[in-house]
Amino acid sequence: MGYKTVMGMVIAMYAVKVILKLGVGFFVGSEMLIGDGFHNLSDIGEAFIVIMAMKLARRKPNERFPLGYMNIESLGSLVIGVLLMLLAFRMILVSVAGGLSFAGIGVASSVLSWVYHAESTFDSGELLILIAVTLSSTIVSVFMSRLEIRAGKRLGSQLMVDDGKETKSDAWVEGMTFAGVIANFFTHSAAPEFIVVAFLGYKLFSTGREIIKPALDTLLLRSIDREHEKGIMDIAKNSGVLGVESLRTMRVGRRMVVVNAKLLVPPTMTTSEQVLHKYALCRSLIMFLADCGYLDAKYEIRYGFPNEPPFEISP
Ligand SMILES: [Zn+2]
Repeated sequence: MGYKTVMGMVIAMYAVKVILKLGVGFFVGSEMLIGDGFHNLSDIGEAFIVIMAMKLARRKPNERFPLGYMNIESLGSLVIGVLLMLLAFRMILVSVAGGLSFAGIGVASSVLSWVYHAESTFDSGELLILIAVTLSSTIVSVFMSRLEIRAGKRLGSQLMVDDGKETKSDAWVEGMTFAGVIANFFTHSAAPEFIVVAFLGYKLFSTGREIIKPALDTLLLRSIDREHEKGIMDIAKNSGVLGVESLRTMRVGRRMVVVNAKLLVPPTMTTSEQVLHKYALCRSLIMFLADCGYLDAKYEIRYGFPNEPPFEISP
């Protein structure tokens, strides 16, 4: 299955959810369901971001973008992560405000009415509709997140995997809404919901962080893992040179690395010997980096002499 088919299924799923959740939510008067329906509207936007970014990321490198467009996926992941964080922040605010209002603190209830108010009192007929909507949503989300994560791994797209994680956190929201609806009905109180919402806020926050951190690592061209860098250093040192003066690595996307090194060789080494050395070194680095999970690398290798006098231009 190609990425467009998978993402098309994701968009269709969210479109049905938005209609169902907003329809039933407004009919029954469930704020939690209405809020989740609007959230799914933003999920549709995210799915379009995934499609566009994946399309762009697959373009071939060219003169203007010699390393290609892979980082555009990290940008997409960053957007998804930030949206998750905002959702988490809203949930934490709701649960804190809810807890305070239960303690009888007046200011809290005005905050609460700004973000959310949970006076959900519904009859048993409405309960059945709510159960049907939240339970079926949860099951579909679990299935769809697995499909997305698996397809993302197969297609080598971290962005698609990240969107799948987001869908998985949606399943948590829906499952907990289901539990909250039932608890609401039997206890005739909104109190259990605030505990549920606090837990969800924490859950979404950690998913958001899990997505944002590696996205920033690649966007900011962070060096690769220390033990991988040490492996490169060892290979370079033992490649028949006098030493390694400098070594820097940078991530480009999730699967590519730039290796920048300056090697020290005897002044007697000719240019053609350097070229041959570079070929041999790159061959062993390619194999090493493939084992580390990098599919592509760009090598910038220079040669210098020990105690080389600094290059100076006198006027
Ligand atoms: Zn979502």
